[in-house]
Amino acid sequence: MSSVTASNPATSCRIGLGYDIHKTGPGDHVWLGGVKIDAAFSLVGHSDADVLLHAVTDAILGALGDADIGHYFPPSDEQNRHRKSSDFVRFAAERMQSAGYKIGNVDCNVICELPRIAPVREVVRESLADLLGASKSQVSVKGRTNEKQDAVGEGRAVVCQAIVLLVPAT
Ligand SMILES: [Zn+2]
Repeated sequence: MSSVTASNPATSCRIGLGYDIHKTGPGDHVWLGGVKIDAAFSLVGHSDADVLLHAVTDAILGALGDADIGHYFPPSDEQNRHRKSSDFVRFAAERMQSAGYKIGNVDCNVICELPRIAPVREVVRESLADLLGASKSQVSVKGRTNEKQDAVGEGRAVVCQAIVLLVPAT
């Protein structure tokens, strides 16, 4: 498997795409980008089910040519139960740095009917930027609905998409 490593110094930009989906279940909050948001449900997952951080983590790992989040943090590992997803994104950011890259920019879609993203957009951007060691201006979080269609539109799941551009750190 060829991945970006320190012995193969960063000379060009790399792009990565991440996607994640979590089912909704009983509860009163969701985690999005490391921010706890009040909701009429929670997201089901082995960790804290932060669907946005999982998509961003996979986008970074994808840009590096690494394996996906499940390879490094398998759900079968009890250590990952209820784990904070900030651990995952920090892990990916450390691999990015050791490969000689930094964040160029990140763009994300959060697709759900609820919670509404607009009221929390700025705080989620700030949190995500902090976790990535980037500035808020490098991080975009957009919310949209699924027009009440399919599982997402019926409130049975929340989806996130993330795309990240990595640029050489020096
Ligand atoms: Zn996930």
